[in-house]
Amino acid sequence: QSLNTPNVTRTTCPYCGVGCGVAANVTAAGAVITGDKFHPANFGRLCSKGAALAETLDHDGRLLYPLANGQRISWDEALDQVAHGFGRVIAEHGPDAVAFYVSGQLLTEDYYVANKLMKGFIGSANIDTNSRLCMSSAVAAHKRAFGADVVPVCYEDIETADLVVITGSNYAWAHPVLYQRLAAAKKARPDMWVVVIDPRRTPTCDIADLHLAIAPGSDAHLFNGLLNFIRREDALDLAYIEAHVEGFAAAFEAARAAGSIPKVAQVCGIPEAEVSEFFRLFARTERTVTIFSQGINQSSSGVDKGNAIINVHLATGRIGRPGMGPFSVTGQPNAMGGREVGGLANQLAAHLDFSDATGIELVARFWNAPRIAKAPGLKAVEMFQAIASGKIKAVWIMGTNPAVSMPDADRVRAALLDCELVVVSDCVRHTDTTACADILLPAGGWGEKDGTVTNSERCISRQRSLLPTAGEARPDWWIITQVAQRMGFAEAFPYTRQAQIFREHARLSGFENRGRRAFDIGALAELDDAQYDALQPVQWPVNAQAPGGTQRLLADGHFYTPSGKARMLAVVPRLPAVAADESFPLVLNTGRSRDQWHTMTRTGKVPRLNTHEAEPYVQIHASDAHIHRLQHGGLARLTSRNGVMLVRVQVSEDQRPGSVFVTMHWNDAYARSARVDALAAPVTDPISGQPESKHTPVRVESY
Ligand code: SF4
Repeated sequence: QSLNTPNVTRTTCPYCGVGCGVAANVTAAGAVITGDKFHPANFGRLCSKGAALAETLDHDGRLLYPLANGQRISWDEALDQVAHGFGRVIAEHGPDAVAFYVSGQLLTEDYYVANKLMKGFIGSANIDTNSRLCMSSAVAAHKRAFGADVVPVCYEDIETADLVVITGSNYAWAHPVLYQRLAAAKKARPDMWVVVIDPRRTPTCDIADLHLAIAPGSDAHLFNGLLNFIRREDALDLAYIEAHVEGFAAAFEAARAAGSIPKVAQVCGIPEAEVSEFFRLFARTERTVTIFSQGINQSSSGVDKGNAIINVHLATGRIGRPGMGPFSVTGQPNAMGGREVGGLANQLAAHLDFSDATGIELVARFWNAPRIAKAPGLKAVEMFQAIASGKIKAVWIMGTNPAVSMPDADRVRAALLDCELVVVSDCVRHTDTTACADILLPAGGWGEKDGTVTNSERCISRQRSLLPTAGEARPDWWIITQVAQRMGFAEAFPYTRQAQIFREHARLSGFENRGRRAFDIGALAELDDAQYDALQPVQWPVNAQAPGGTQRLLADGHFYTPSGKARMLAVVPRLPAVAADESFPLVLNTGRSRDQWHTMTRTGKVPRLNTHEAEPYVQIHASDAHIHRLQHGGLARLTSRNGVMLVRVQVSEDQRPGSVFVTMHWNDAYARSARVDALAAPVTDPISGQPESKHTPVRVESY
C-alpha cells in the first residue's frame, strides 16, 4: 500500500462494475470515505452510493453468529452440520443433488475456493452465480465472436471516442462514475457524439445528441440494419475483414433481411430520420465505442443481440484500437472476477470450460482432483427449478438474495422453503432468502473483507479490510475452506490467508497457457504476502509479455478461435419469448435506481439514499394511464402470469406507450408485495441461460 498514509486504507467500492477506488480514513469518530484519486477507474470520483459507504458500516442488521433453525450455535457445530449435510446428500443421491448459488459480491479468492470445491472435489458443476442474471449473454457473445470472454476496450476509450453509443443501459444511474467521465469528456469536446438507444427516456439521455426510443426487443433488428447499411454504403473495412474475420458472408446475408432504413424504422418503432442519422453517424465515425449492458443481455435472445453489436465493430475493423470497440459493462463489483475463476456453471476455471477434454484434464491435474466435473452444471434458473422438483436437495447460497432477485421469485422462495437443506452465508441477518435458511453462516461485510476484485475494464484491484470483523463473522473463503476440510479435502484446501489463494489462482491462469487462453495473470503468481497486500490496480493479462498489465486487447488482430480469426455471426432477430396480449397488454421493463444497490440490504440502511425514491413505483405513459384509469400518485396493482406487485403510479412522458418501468430493488422487508421479480417469467436465452427480465407482459389496475 505504498500510496497509503498510516490512517488511510485504499480499497474498492463494493457496488457496481465500475470498480471505483475508495480511500477510507478510520478514526475513533468513525470512517471517512472519499474517492481514491490514484485509482484509474475513478481518479477520485464517487457516486451517491459510494460516497455513503461510511453510513453502512454499523452492525445494525448484521448476522453476527451462526444459527441453525433460528438457534445460536458455535462455528464448529455450524461447519460440521454443513459438511455433514452436504456429505449425506452426496452419499445418498450423488454430487448433482447439491448446488452452490454464489454472487458477484464475492471476492475472487472466495469465488475460487467455492468453484474448486464444487467442480474439483464434490464432482458436480452445480455452482452458478447471480452474475448469470447480469452479463452471461455478453460472456457467450464474446466467446462466439472472439473465442474467449474478453472485453477488448478500457475506460479511457470512452473518453477518447468520437461517437459513444449506449444501448440497453441507464448508464447515468447504473454506472454513474463512468457516466461522469463520459459527460466530462463530452463537455471538453462538444463535437463528440453520444447516442442512447433505450425504449424509455432516462437520465442518461441528458447528454445524448440522439435518443432512439426503440420498441422493446428490437435491438438486434436495429444493429442488423446498421450492418446492412454499412455494407451498402461501402463503409466496411475490407482489409481488416479479409485478414482477421470469418463468417462475414453469412452475417451479411442474415443482416440483409433487416431491409433498408424505412423497414428498420418500422420494426423498431422510431422515425426514419432518426435511424438514418444514427446509421450515417456510425458509418462515418471511426472512433466509436458501443456500450451495452442489461437491456441487451437480459433477453431470450441476448447472446444474438450481443453478437449483432460485435458484428458491426468487426465489419468496420473498429476493435483493439484507441477510442473504439464493443464494451460490455458489468453490473457487479466482481462479476468479471467470477468469470476468471470459472464461477458460472458452464465454465470450469481460468477461462477453460467443459467443451475441451484437454482443459478438463489440465485443471484436474493442477488441482490434483480425481473427481473433477466433466460436464456443465445447472444455470441459475434451471438450478432453482431443480430445487423445486427435488432433484437438488441441498443448496448453499453465498452473499445473494435469490428469493427477491430471481425471476418467478415466489416459486423460488417456495422451492427454498421446501428444500431439504438450505445454507445461507451472508453479512445481513434478515433477508427474504435468510428467512428460508436452515443454517445461517455470518460472513464478513465490506470494510472487513480482504482480497481482490476485477472491474469492467479487466482491472484487478485490492479490496482491503479497514475494520475488525463484526461479531463472529468470517471471510467467505475461510468458511468454504473449513467446510471443504471437514468434507475430507484438507490437502487441497490448506488455505490460511487470502494471498495463498490468489497465488494459486494466478498460477492456474498461467499453467500450460502459452498464449492460448486470454486470461493469464501468471506474472502475479510469485507475489509474496506483502506484495499482494500492496498490489496496485492492474489490467489483465499480466504475464511475461505484459508484466505491467494490458490496457487494450485484440490490438494485434489475433483472436482466441482455432483459426485465430474473429467470427461474425449470422444473427436472425427473434421477438421476446412472451408477447403482450389482451389479458396482459403492457410490457414491464425493470432496472436500477440511482441511489440503491441490488435488494437494498446495505444502501437501504442509509436515510439520505432512501430520500431519492421512498417507495416502489411504476412509471407509465399518460396515454396508458388514461386507458387503464390510473391517477398519478395513486396505488396500482401489477399482475403478470407469475405474480403480483403493489406500486405507486408515476405518470411520465419519458415512458414509451405500451411499456411500463419498475425498479428492481424493493423487497418484502420494505413494503408488502414489493418484489418485481415475482412477476418475471423464468424465460431464458437458450445459450446463456440469462433470464428475460426486461420483457414481462403485465396488466396494471388501480388498487
Ligand atoms: Fe461504487 Fe459504482 Fe458508484 Fe463507483 S460508480 S462509487 S463503483 S457504485
